[in-house]
Amino acid sequence: MPAPKKSTSKTAPAIAPASAPVSPAAVPQRRSTDDPVQSLQQAILRNLTSALARDRVTAKPRDWWIATSLAVREQILTRLIKTQGVHNKENVRRLYYLSLEYLMGRLFENNLYNTGLYDEARTALKDLGVDWESVRESEVDMGLGNGGLGRLAACFLDSLATLDFPAIGYGIHYEFGLFKQEFVHGHQVEHPDNWMIFGTPWEVVRPEYTTDVKIYGRVENVFDNNGNSHPRWTDTKTILGVPYDIPIAGYGTATVNLLRLWASRSTEEFDLVAFNSGGYVDAVREKAIGETVSKVLYPNDKTENGKELRLVQQYFFVSCSLRDIIRRHFRHEGNSWENFDDKVAVQLNDTHPAVAVAELLRILLDEHNFAWEKAWSIVTNTFGYTNHTLLPEALEKWGVPLFTRVLPRHTQIVYEINRRLMEVVEAKWPGDNKKKAILSLVEEGGAKAFRMANLAVVGSHAVNGVAALHTELLKKDLFPDFDNLYPGKFQNKTNGITPRRWLLDCNPRLTKLITEKLGSPTIWARDLDVLRGLEKFADDKAFQKEFMAIKRANKQDLATVIKADCGVDVSPDALFDVQIKRLHEYKRQHLNLLHILTLYRRLLQNPSLDIVPRVFVFGAKAAPGYDLAKNIIRAINVIGDRINKDDRINGKLKVAFLPNYRVSLAEKIIPASDLSEQISTAGKEASGTGNMKLALNGSLTIGTLDGANVEIGEEVGDDNIFIFGLKVPDVEKLDAEGYNPWNYYGADDELRAIVDWLGSDYFTPGESHAFGALHHSLLDGGDPYKVLADYRSYVQAQEKVDAAYRDTSRWAKMAILNTARVGKFSSDRTIREYAKDIWSLPSVAI
Ligand SMILES: *Cc1c(COP(=O)(O)O)cnc(C)c1O
Repeated sequence: MPAPKKSTSKTAPAIAPASAPVSPAAVPQRRSTDDPVQSLQQAILRNLTSALARDRVTAKPRDWWIATSLAVREQILTRLIKTQGVHNKENVRRLYYLSLEYLMGRLFENNLYNTGLYDEARTALKDLGVDWESVRESEVDMGLGNGGLGRLAACFLDSLATLDFPAIGYGIHYEFGLFKQEFVHGHQVEHPDNWMIFGTPWEVVRPEYTTDVKIYGRVENVFDNNGNSHPRWTDTKTILGVPYDIPIAGYGTATVNLLRLWASRSTEEFDLVAFNSGGYVDAVREKAIGETVSKVLYPNDKTENGKELRLVQQYFFVSCSLRDIIRRHFRHEGNSWENFDDKVAVQLNDTHPAVAVAELLRILLDEHNFAWEKAWSIVTNTFGYTNHTLLPEALEKWGVPLFTRVLPRHTQIVYEINRRLMEVVEAKWPGDNKKKAILSLVEEGGAKAFRMANLAVVGSHAVNGVAALHTELLKKDLFPDFDNLYPGKFQNKTNGITPRRWLLDCNPRLTKLITEKLGSPTIWARDLDVLRGLEKFADDKAFQKEFMAIKRANKQDLATVIKADCGVDVSPDALFDVQIKRLHEYKRQHLNLLHILTLYRRLLQNPSLDIVPRVFVFGAKAAPGYDLAKNIIRAINVIGDRINKDDRINGKLKVAFLPNYRVSLAEKIIPASDLSEQISTAGKEASGTGNMKLALNGSLTIGTLDGANVEIGEEVGDDNIFIFGLKVPDVEKLDAEGYNPWNYYGADDELRAIVDWLGSDYFTPGESHAFGALHHSLLDGGDPYKVLADYRSYVQAQEKVDAAYRDTSRWAKMAILNTARVGKFSSDRTIREYAKDIWSLPSVAI
């Protein structure tokens, strides 16, 4: 393949350009008489005309992106139909993944790689004289998620299809995804993400599967022939759910699964009632309420605020999805529930879809006249629940009055589940009211609220944490009594990432090198443990040189992005120190900032100080209502700007906070990272997945013993990771003693100087207390995430990083061993474990 025009060739002549293609999956079933490039080219041109009313002369990159996507979609949909045909014919057991978020990113290149059409599409466009980069860059990310949880769902879909598991993902077709972020004078400013404005070539709307959702209303009792009373949910409103299907193509296999996202619409009757009684404007307003449900993704990561629309969103997508699942099941089973739980496994991605437990029970009891015991057994056999966090503020609760107004019948059902649960608790711990209060689905004392995590635990046959440490803490701290009550229900499924997007697609240079050494990616990108074969090159000087030259070329590319997006000049010879993740106190971007201030101050006091030049790269969105997080963003931006412009330090430090962190930006940063910041307070990060992406791309972790960092350390070895700071028992001990940040402030002169500096108006002349929220949180606010306690240990670990980086060969070896040894963190491994231990899901060859 020809080399695209990129400025990298001057600085790194030996290295292939970033977009050098690698032939991935062999594509099955192509007619040998056709020239595949030519037929694809014809399909592109046909779509350009028929879908976009453009010709070759007037077409913009975005038009080429849509036309090419549609041409490729034709082939993917053919495979989708074939896959669904086989699944239906064999009446297979299926996994239904319920997630309120899917952070898919761009689909164009990923679909081309996965289907094996990448080279053909490149050639087809090149022959038409179309620039590949501009086509790729014209795709807007599909950002229907906040961060790690939504990205995990996307990685899981990729692995499910790649491993030929019959699976459907269900979610919401948000009109607006996660906000776009801009910086104005260092402040975060949010803009709506109107991601569909230029069309979405990958989705297919399915109005024929439109589903009714009942909501609101009241419950009355009706009497049957024998005088028995039955609850009847009545006076409800109806919202329609219209499904949009996005095909999910496996890599190097014929399987194409689907992601089905529900868009809300108003019913016709709904409009007419209002129209007859109130006139046109009211009718339209009523209609708008129906459409509002799927309008916008809530931009909060790990906090819930009890908003009615959020509950309506959750119920809406759960209800649509369960109806769809039941419809599919009845199609095969002649309206019989007999083997429903043989054919259906449903996974709840966090508690966001936990109302599904009550909804399926309601359908069985009220619509299909099941006795409670039988209905309950179907429900618990069907559901599995994944817990994603131990942070108390992230555990979902719904005030009972609100919940009852929206879902009056479900309130009755949750109370009945709870009544029966309390009987079980009483049998096990007679007279122990404390146990009952802990395990109850209803939080009493103050305003009553339903605890959705408790509902999910009780209503599922399996509950899993997302890293070994997290699962241990889940059992020990969050749910010890449930663990006691249901032995064996809690289990671990350490998260993973798809190596297709996070190595093959995003790092073509490294992919090419690995392929030269280990053979086709159709082998190693489907079995990531094969990367262990790179270990034998870790000491090989020539290989080290190649590996680091690739890193340098990737850094050069990122430098171009940094210049364009931040206006900052950075050198690819500096150490690229990267922290990219949602902005949250527990993730401790402010600890990173204290280190930056430390180095800056040391340089000001001694300009000839010999340190490895560093570029600090940040990417992070703060929830719009999270003031402290926004203050941290402003502090990094303002201090960074001062550092970047300070000639006295000779460019030894640069700070680049790239705006609008998202999947497509992560794909540019990760291949260029030398150092991966995973510095959360021990016990707070459930797993992390950014840590895995970075390690896979040869970035060394500086991190606490938290989440999956622990397991990354086990895999790569103590010599190839920089671990520092308090461990979980140390944090617990400090909490028990009463942690006081002033002690650390008082005992460490350098720390005190840094914190005082931050609290002064040095960086914002004329504006005092610009970082007051941040400064307050560290001292008077009690430093809830123990930044000061970990400061010195962190700075010392950074000094070890500095020393290690000077030894080029040693650093190269460490980086190579990271890539070679993190095969465990492929989401293929994770999905295989879920399929075996939780879903009992066989794979089905197409
Ligand atoms: C992987 C990923 C995350 C999760 O990062 P963590 O460091 O695990 O919090 C968040 N956002 C995006 C865009 C990602 O790709």
